[in-house]
Amino acid sequence: MAIAVHNPFDIVRRQIREATEQLGLPPAVYEILKQPLRFVEVAIPVQMDDGSLRVFQGFRSQHNDALGPTKGGVRFHPSVTPDEVKALSMWMTVKCALLAIPFGGGKGGIVCNPKELSPRELEALSRGFVSALQQVLGPDKDIPAPDVYTTPQIMAWMMDEFSRARAANAFALVTGKPVELGGSRGRVEATGRGCVAAVAALAERIGLSLEGARVAVQGYGNVGSVAARLLRELGAVLVAASDSQGGVYNPHGLDPLALSRFKEEAGTLASFPGGDRITNEELLACDADILIPAALENQLTEANAGAVKARIVAEAANGPTTPEAEAILYERGALVIPDVLANAGGVTVSYFEWVQNLSGWYWPEEEVERQLARRMAEACEEVFHLQEERRSTIRQAAYMVAVRRLAEAMRLRGWLARTPALWRG
Ligand code: NAD
Repeated sequence: MAIAVHNPFDIVRRQIREATEQLGLPPAVYEILKQPLRFVEVAIPVQMDDGSLRVFQGFRSQHNDALGPTKGGVRFHPSVTPDEVKALSMWMTVKCALLAIPFGGGKGGIVCNPKELSPRELEALSRGFVSALQQVLGPDKDIPAPDVYTTPQIMAWMMDEFSRARAANAFALVTGKPVELGGSRGRVEATGRGCVAAVAALAERIGLSLEGARVAVQGYGNVGSVAARLLRELGAVLVAASDSQGGVYNPHGLDPLALSRFKEEAGTLASFPGGDRITNEELLACDADILIPAALENQLTEANAGAVKARIVAEAANGPTTPEAEAILYERGALVIPDVLANAGGVTVSYFEWVQNLSGWYWPEEEVERQLARRMAEACEEVFHLQEERRSTIRQAAYMVAVRRLAEAMRLRGWLARTPALWRG
């Protein structure tokens, strides 16, 4: 079978177009949202440890700032492309609007393999990225954050570079910083915690008890491991987990903390002694009630979606399910919590971090958790309610909530020309 190869940029454009049509919005809304308002490509020269010079390619996409400054992570990966970065920035716009966070969507990327760079080279590259984009970044313009293979240390270097150039501390430039430099308590766990909140809300709605529910996590990194740990605290059983080198399966349960410790020491969990080795494909199809793809895009496709047994698929990663795969999952009776909801906990606590930096008043962890729980619960309620009302997928409902908010903001700002009020009441 020929499998459709998906460009995430095409997918997100289609998702936004569908939402504008379902809401009956004027075409101008889609015309503005179908591409980033600004996309910048930069060349970053770095002197390598051996004395040679390498020039890295970097991107920053600022999709839409109708609701506030753009916000989004920076990805360090050898296969980053402009279309991927644009798509990720558009998902950020939708995510922020959905959670009613006063940010627009941004995203950045550098084509590199961070595993091959020394700490000094990584620092020079991170500083070079900020230096090259100085004019378009800032706490009230565009606020970077961590993403795949970028860390709190990298955020600290980026903040320091910007602060040096401005001759003033600018903690609010980036989020995901170490707590010692204005990072928020609870940020590291935020995305996994938000994902679990969404899973718990949906499980309750469909009458699936989390006590004893079997969970499989693809991509046992920051987000995946935290989600596994918190689900275990709610009584669920982690039966499978994987990383880029393969996975491990045990129907009687894996200890999430022991897995994390093993991965930390061995570099991978694939050889974890507490279960059987499985491939990533086998993990997706294993006997689980809840499947959490927490690695990269396009993991669930029309080729493997039919084998998924889970009732809930929670997209901790961005874009892990292709549109064809989602249709197959729904036919099978599974429900997909879309990325824009399932992983929105990260940007929500990033927003809290920015608020704390600007006010200089730092919250205890319990306050972060309480505010995150409230926002996730509100967003889930709004989305699940609309989904039932419209008999749509959860993703379509989430896009409608977000696009409606964005369209209203753009209309009020006068971006939609002479468009009359979009809704009554
Ligand atoms: P991470 O680098 O900590 O973890 C990613 C994990 O995925 C690693 O364990 C890696 O080995 C594994 N992986 C890579 N390729 C794989 C493959 N083909 N099959 C199985 N596993 C594979 O990254 P993270 O911060 O946990 O982010 C994971 C995903 O969540 C990404 O898609 C990211 O965009 C998304 N996300 C992260 C955050 C956040 O706050 N960190 C917020 C929103 C969305």
